[in-house]
Amino acid sequence: MTKNVDAIVVGGGIHGCSTALHLCLAGMKPMLIEKDYAGRHASGVNAGGVRQLARHIPEIPLSIRSMGIWEKVAELVDDDCSFESHGQVLVAENEEELAVCRARVAELNGLGFTHEELIDAAELRRLVPAVAETCPGGVVSRRDGAANPAQTTTAFRRKAERLGATVREGVAANNIRYRDGRWHVEVGSDTFAAPVLVNAAGAWAGKIAADLGEPVPVETVAPMLMITSRVPHFIDPVVILRGRKLSFKQFVNGTVLIGGGHLATPYQDRNETVLDWKSLATSAQTVFELFPVMRSATIVRAWAGIEAKMKDDIPVFGPSSRHQGLYHQFGFSLHGFQLGPGAGAVMAELIVNGGTQTRVSDLGIDRFHPSTLQNKRTS
Ligand SMILES: Cc1cc2nc3c(=O)[nH]c(=O)nc-3n(C[C@H](O)[C@H](O)[C@H](O)COP(=O)(O)OP(=O)(O)OC[C@H]3O[C@@H](n4cnc5c(N)ncnc54)[C@H](O)[C@@H]3O)c2cc1C
Repeated sequence: MTKNVDAIVVGGGIHGCSTALHLCLAGMKPMLIEKDYAGRHASGVNAGGVRQLARHIPEIPLSIRSMGIWEKVAELVDDDCSFESHGQVLVAENEEELAVCRARVAELNGLGFTHEELIDAAELRRLVPAVAETCPGGVVSRRDGAANPAQTTTAFRRKAERLGATVREGVAANNIRYRDGRWHVEVGSDTFAAPVLVNAAGAWAGKIAADLGEPVPVETVAPMLMITSRVPHFIDPVVILRGRKLSFKQFVNGTVLIGGGHLATPYQDRNETVLDWKSLATSAQTVFELFPVMRSATIVRAWAGIEAKMKDDIPVFGPSSRHQGLYHQFGFSLHGFQLGPGAGAVMAELIVNGGTQTRVSDLGIDRFHPSTLQNKRTS
């Protein structure tokens, strides 16, 4: 027998959980379906970076909206998500890189965005005292920070459930089809139907979109992270390098998380990744070169997460260009954790109100093919 619900959200990452939660806050009773468990993939194993810094311009409004929610996240989900705000700093290693930083900040200011601030060598050294003396400056986004990804995703899932969402884990959404004005989804031996379906299936979402007639240029990637043994406290903000694939953050216990975009090989059908130890060694070497304090550290653990990366590096977000009641929320291209809280709020506005004050129109799936939907909603 088919069970009717208000909305079906496919995928229990930060995005699906946040959207389910915000739909509940708007008075709906959604169903969240997760084939493994909430936070099993990118949302639970990422670097936890809560960053407005260095974002693509089309996603900055969503990132700013999200930042406001991060700063009050405990009020929303009854859990502080271990969110802390020590800023994020982009380090220029030479004058050429600093010139690129200067131009970027000027461009953002011209567009009315003021969250990125150009800093000189003295301010860089004040924020990151251990940085190599040859670095001439960089950019800081002072409200940025970091959170615990698994704790955050679990907190959003738990609060959604407490507010009335039904959560089904360990079973995939299958055979998704539109009939008689409703989306029908098979979940194990049950079938659920709803007027609204949100495709928040992470690296698996591109296939769902393609099966529904909306293929997009998306690939599956597996960014890697590693964590070191404890070293004396030397840094508060999260640090990103302008010219190299590197980011890192020190935890209060002294361990250092090193990432930056080097990739493992994903096997998404098996939920597995195979690490590229050579690239990991390169990342570690770079940190050790720039921060002498790190030279006594050893790498104690490394892992990777499976993620959807769009060709243009910005997510697919908003209503379908073909089907009434279908919404896409995927393709976060290695930087979707920070966007999760705001994206859920905006998605709920699109679904419930048919529009939002937050500019997300540049992120729509219709950038890949023209809309064929007669009465398409706009944002
Ligand atoms: C190593 C790493 C480091 C990163 N660091 C950062 C960072 O510091 N800051 C930042 O902002 N971002 C970061 N990211 C990116 C960020 O983690 C992702 O963009 C974000 O978590 C994507 O969330 P999601 O909900 O879209 O996807 P996911 O977390 O992948 O969730 C999608 C879920 O859908 C489920 N699913 C798929 N198909 C089905 C189906 N048919 N039925 C039911 N369930 C299904 C999957 O099992 C999965 O759990 C990082 C990513 C990785 C991998």
